Amino acid sequence: MEDKLTRRSFFQMAVASAVVVPFALKAATALAADACPKTAPAGKALGSPTEGMGKSLEYVMDASTSKNPKHKAGDACGSCKFFNQAKADGGYAPCTMMGMKYVTNCGWCKSYSKKA
Ligand code: SF4
Repeated sequence: MEDKLTRRSFFQMAVASAVVVPFALKAATALAADACPKTAPAGKALGSPTEGMGKSLEYVMDASTSKNPKHKAGDACGSCKFFNQAKADGGYAPCTMMGMKYVTNCGWCKSYSKKA
């Protein structure tokens, strides 16, 4: 009897883990995507909020600091169609609108266009 309960408990835990773990991983991934990277990737040209296209497009490295009225809460480079995720490096990726300079996944500029 005790052996049956143990097997049942094990099976219940396995099923619960199979359901919960993917959600937990997805939530952790979403949080990681929203978090601003702490260090810039070495050897990459970075977009600047104060120079060139970055200045023209009112780029900010942290979307929550944007003063542009066009910015909506939750919009950030990581969900922009110009953010080249395939070449991402440590939370940064090259932006098409910024001459392929690297921008942060949590940044924002007035050319933001949500990925389809
Ligand atoms: S175009 Fe998109 S990815 Fe590039 S800086 Fe602006 S919001 Fe970020």
